[in-house]
Amino acid sequence: MTKTVYLVGAGPGDPGLLTVRGRAILGFADVVVYDRLVGEEILDWCRADTEKIYVGKAAANHAMTQDEINALLVEKAQSGKTVCRLKGGDPFVFGRGGEEALYCRAHHVRFEIVPGVSSVIAAPAYAGIPITQREIASSFAVVTGHTKDDDAPPADLPVADTIIFLMGVRALPKIVAQLLARGDSPDTPVALVRWGTTTKQQVVTGTLETIESDVARAGLLPPALIVVGEVVRLRNELKWFDNKPLFGHNIVVTRAREQASSLVEELRGRGANVIQCPTIRVEELDDYQAIDEALEFLSSFNWIVFTSTNSVEYFWRRLENSGRDARALGGAKVTAIGPATRDALKSRGIVADFIPENSMSESVAQGLIARGIEGELILIARALEGRAVLEEKLHEAGAEVLIAPLYRTVADESEAENVREMLKRGEISWISFSSGSTVKNFCDAVGLQNVLDARSGFRVACIGPITAGAARECGIEPEVIAQSASVESLADAMESYAVNSRQQIGNRTDAKSTPE
Ligand code: SAH
Repeated sequence: MTKTVYLVGAGPGDPGLLTVRGRAILGFADVVVYDRLVGEEILDWCRADTEKIYVGKAAANHAMTQDEINALLVEKAQSGKTVCRLKGGDPFVFGRGGEEALYCRAHHVRFEIVPGVSSVIAAPAYAGIPITQREIASSFAVVTGHTKDDDAPPADLPVADTIIFLMGVRALPKIVAQLLARGDSPDTPVALVRWGTTTKQQVVTGTLETIESDVARAGLLPPALIVVGEVVRLRNELKWFDNKPLFGHNIVVTRAREQASSLVEELRGRGANVIQCPTIRVEELDDYQAIDEALEFLSSFNWIVFTSTNSVEYFWRRLENSGRDARALGGAKVTAIGPATRDALKSRGIVADFIPENSMSESVAQGLIARGIEGELILIARALEGRAVLEEKLHEAGAEVLIAPLYRTVADESEAENVREMLKRGEISWISFSSGSTVKNFCDAVGLQNVLDARSGFRVACIGPITAGAARECGIEPEVIAQSASVESLADAMESYAVNSRQQIGNRTDAKSTPE
């Protein structure tokens, strides 16, 4: 049966600006057809088996023409696939959504429109420019800078207090000339916002008289939008996004992708541009005999120790696989190595009985021993290649310990090349390490010498003393070490360092304004 085509606005780039409806559709679509401007992380919300088709910009190589895209949407829907057609910003704002909807209608394919947060609204907002403001601007107009395959605005520009040009960077000289020719003041403020709402956002401000040379000096390229009007002056006071403490910092996150999301969020929330370079990947084991046997008498354990969020995840997979649920734990008490593991347990209905202060095996052992474990039966749910110290200490204290390996970590070198090149070009501001093994794996993957050669260009942040020790062993002295072993504390440490160094630079040069 023919399915529906959803024309979905993906928002302007910040994944958080996708609508709730848009996200739901991504979650059930069989096929996602997407463009270049879409923030790629949004695609993580697709199901694993969703077919993702990049159709790019009509002009680019490997991309499809509009006719081909139209045909693809209809053909997929007719073959029984629910289609999500993802478009940057809003599908009906210079997005050709109307054309695609008309084509669907002509072929009797049902369609729905999911509006998106348009860059028209969002990019100025993230640049601290309200497009209307009482007593300053009571109207705004949106105009294309690209008409009839030509880089030029329409001959007759609308009259409005604020004018926003999309696709107008190449047409900037013509736009300026037309506005001046119709009598707009050369002092009219102008801003260009590139990659608005993303951590790569770039803003150039000036006036109709200066903006062409301002843009040339900044080397600003498309895609960007242009805001013309008095409201642009408000940016001086309302600039907020690019004032975030880690804005402009390119930060490498070396955690496995499965575990990186909380750190990535912490850093993005502080404005950082995150470059994921997982050096390990988590994989299932071939042999689950130990855990499967333990599941048979799970409630006889006095304690079950979860040593990572992965151990919770994989433990539950085995549990469910064997037809059981959380009740199988019975009266067993539960240890979580840290806050993230505690939360993973909580989301499965289990409140941890013990969480050590600093997420180290030594502290788990100490805490359990203090509770009296002689003669008790303890299950340790962990990675295949975990440290032996916990097991040994518990054993010495008279407990009977069973190890249940649940997953293994394997080296992942897929992103190393990109980071190596960025390091050479001096584009990395920080490398963050959240375990000793990530330090070693990262240096192996990128090449220790490449890391050391670029060392003066970036800072190193470690989640705790063991990780810092591993960095020192590679000849890397970390600039910051988190106070407590949590991703929040790691991000806090980087933020404080960045704010302090900015203050020092500010004091030294007496800089009063940021260059723009
Ligand atoms: N449907 C989209 C616009 C598509 S036209 C929307 O509603 O936002 C493409 C143009 O939109 C680009 O050339 C640029 O001018 C603008 N644009 C899209 N995303 C942008 C962003 N994140 N920052 C600045 N301009 C953006």
